[in-house]
Amino acid sequence: SLQKEDSDLRDSNGFKGHDMLAPFTAGWQTTDLHPLVIEKSEGIYVYDVNGRKYVDSLAGLWCTALGGNEPRLVAAATDQLNKLPFYHSFWNRTTKPSLDLAKELLETFTARKMAKVFFTNSGSEANDTQVKLVWYYNNALGRPKKKKFIARAKSYHGSTLISASLSGLPALHQKFDLPAPFVLHTDCPHYWRYHLPGETEEEFSTRLANNLENLILKEGPETIAAFIAEPVMGAGGVIPPPATYFEKIQAVVKKYDILFIADEVICAFGRLGTMFGCDKYNIKPDLVSLAKALSSAYMPIGAVMVSPEVSEVIYSQSNKLGSFSHGFTYSGHPVSCAVAIEALKLYKERNIVEKVKSVSPRFQDGLKSFSDSPIVGEIRGTGLILGTEFTNNKSPNDPFPPEWGIGAYFGAQCEKNGMLVRVAGDNIMMSPPFIITPEEVDELISKYGKALKATE
Ligand code: PLP
Repeated sequence: SLQKEDSDLRDSNGFKGHDMLAPFTAGWQTTDLHPLVIEKSEGIYVYDVNGRKYVDSLAGLWCTALGGNEPRLVAAATDQLNKLPFYHSFWNRTTKPSLDLAKELLETFTARKMAKVFFTNSGSEANDTQVKLVWYYNNALGRPKKKKFIARAKSYHGSTLISASLSGLPALHQKFDLPAPFVLHTDCPHYWRYHLPGETEEEFSTRLANNLENLILKEGPETIAAFIAEPVMGAGGVIPPPATYFEKIQAVVKKYDILFIADEVICAFGRLGTMFGCDKYNIKPDLVSLAKALSSAYMPIGAVMVSPEVSEVIYSQSNKLGSFSHGFTYSGHPVSCAVAIEALKLYKERNIVEKVKSVSPRFQDGLKSFSDSPIVGEIRGTGLILGTEFTNNKSPNDPFPPEWGIGAYFGAQCEKNGMLVRVAGDNIMMSPPFIITPEEVDELISKYGKALKATE
């Protein structure tokens, strides 16, 4: 009935019972409910087909970093479309925008030196590519057994077969016969939910690093190829790492010659108030996955950045292994690359990292001031990413009955008040565009507060 209420908000927009098999949507919803149909965007706002205006508090899907109607991105796309709408990057043929973007990305990422860039169309394809790259690398090194991946419970790495397997969310596995057997999952680093009585954040991180080491030893270090992590977990509920977590995890991974993959799909380009999540948490990855804000979502594009050590093996062993026979028709699509080059230019010109840094205390403190609401368990976040978890009695172990639909009700109240949030059960997630102004932050907070009051 809550879903119905949600749907009725959308007036009769004429799209009920549409023809799409829609992503992450239940079959009955596409048939029985009105979808929210978005038609136009402007800065941090989107408008539906009935002309209603919403604060887009998730920046699309954590991605429209520069907001709607940025003329420079539109011009970059149209100029490139007029000049060369497409040529591929296979067999050592390529285009200038893809070469320029690869160079620009390597210069932009300074957490450590990276050597090469592989282009994909999405974050899921980037993470699939990571697995194939790592397998190819270990085959090149003559280590055919070193093939398993360790990811974390509640992580999200995408929804293709491999990236969904890496993800640690049961909904991505159930009914799809996943995860694939080469994927193992270790602890979710959510201190509030999982710490033991009296355990400090540092002690919690030590325990998780020990658990990871024990898992590696149990499986055999010679079988573990790579560890993958989002600097701040996104779709799992916005979970920043506890103190000293990445320092301790990286030490374990290094000890057993396991590659570290940073999934920066959400965190990169300023989201956390640093250019990359790796900068914020002093992560020195071997491989990095990018997508989303890479083009501010104006065109689909993802990328994998490869360390000099990994790329050197791929280079030196190429006579033995032949071509790296992996890629997509649209790998390095010139229009997507042209848009991404312009997005990177805008991030730098507009000093986007400093901008996020200066506006984020208002965003974080303003929203965290609702922490004492009786239905709020925890509000957590950093930079311009924030999660709210509703629970009974402030306890991580006392969830509201799912049939109460607290999260869904809050989401519907937000929508009624002119704001779109991401709802996953009783978790609410927000990650507004980097361009959000202090006044717009206040508007977002006021809408959140009204929806919370109505939900209490
Ligand atoms: N990795 C992370 C951390 C993500 O948040 C996402 C998407 O939300 C992905 C990968 C998958 O990206 P895409 O949806 O572009 O395939």
